[in-house]
Amino acid sequence: METETFQDFQDFQSLALPEALKENVAHLGFQAPTPIQAQTIPRILSGRDLIGQSQTGSGKTAAYLVPVIAQLNAALPVVQAIVLTPTRELCVQVAEVANDLVANTGLRVMAIFGGFSLDIQCAALRQGVQLVLGTPGRVKDLMMRGRLDLSGVRHFILDEADEMLDMGFLNDITYIANRTPKVRQNLLFSATMAPPVKQLINDYMNHPEHIEIQQVTRTADTLSHLFVRAQGHDKDRVLRSLLSEFRPDAALIFSNKKHAVPRIARALRGGAMPVEYLHGGLEQEDRMRIMRQFRDGRIQVLVCTDVAARGLDVLSVGLVVNYDIPPDPDIYVHRVGRTGRIGEKGTAVSLVANHEMALLHRIESHARIRMQPYAPAGEPASSKSSSDSKNSRRKRGHDRHSGRRR
Ligand code: ADP
Ligand code: MG
Repeated sequence: METETFQDFQDFQSLALPEALKENVAHLGFQAPTPIQAQTIPRILSGRDLIGQSQTGSGKTAAYLVPVIAQLNAALPVVQAIVLTPTRELCVQVAEVANDLVANTGLRVMAIFGGFSLDIQCAALRQGVQLVLGTPGRVKDLMMRGRLDLSGVRHFILDEADEMLDMGFLNDITYIANRTPKVRQNLLFSATMAPPVKQLINDYMNHPEHIEIQQVTRTADTLSHLFVRAQGHDKDRVLRSLLSEFRPDAALIFSNKKHAVPRIARALRGGAMPVEYLHGGLEQEDRMRIMRQFRDGRIQVLVCTDVAARGLDVLSVGLVVNYDIPPDPDIYVHRVGRTGRIGEKGTAVSLVANHEMALLHRIESHARIRMQPYAPAGEPASSKSSSDSKNSRRKRGHDRHSGRRR
């Protein structure tokens, strides 16, 4: 068995990367690598297969994009790398980073996802693209029509593999992988490592090295996890109190139910902050416009479902509210991953009805966190159960301002 040692690096500028790529990394404002980047980038540059596991918001996108782009050949007009992502939103977001990273390298990037004209996508592909990013369904679709040829692929990357499997993309992923050359570099990134993901690894990867950034909790330790007891539509009033109290520059409100999202947004309209909503049933153009406005700060409060928000990266979200408690604890971890990114402070508040308390406890043990009871200013104690109302009073003022950004 060969043993290779890899040196973590301190600074992107000290890496053996093409000059233009280094400049683009600097342009993105990255100097020191995040922990997952420090460990994975040198290994990926060496061509090995690798599994990267770390919390959301820890910089996994650049952890694979930078070393993969460094290995692409701009003189060859064939697809050399493909990144699969679970949702179109994540695809667009990764494509934005990829486009920034290929500036002045002569490389071309193409994002392939549903909701856009096939003709445009095919025309762009004919021009010669080296890096393709896409959702599994649409990529497979284009391949079956003979419009996308992956026979020159040398790097095969799965981003958020666990989520793709949850969404039922295993067959599509298999189809795509089987039509790329056997000799290729396989990379898999994920925040969680469920058993189906391990199976996928066994089937498709070649003795990958598993890099896991360990931490005490599964969420950023700059986060406060609070909960407020509230039943049914009382949650609307509690939500309004929370928003006026925390006054975050940007807040995400998560609902389990698509049909509840417009209703919750309506209940918040007329307040001081611009509100919009996002769910998978909206037209693609509307989803993109709303996301853009949220990122630009024109929308301050976004009510959304998990599908619509998964993988979204908005740095300045100071407050995440769980309007209801997700049945799957991993979903909680992903939701709160939208706040407290890269060492910033953040607050996650869960609105818990009586029947949801058991779910809350499951999340506590799964994510290895403690939820603190919280009473928003002006909320009557009756919105909480008597057993913890005293506790909540004591907790008032706890990290009250961490949701704000200046
Ligand atoms: P993940 O995929 O792990 O959830 P992302 O790749 O979306 O995380 O990165 C989260 C945020 O961190 C992004 O806004 C990204 O621009 C920023 N980021 C990534 N790497 C660095 C770095 N080395 N230095 C500073 N910011 C970084
Ligand atoms: Mg990611």
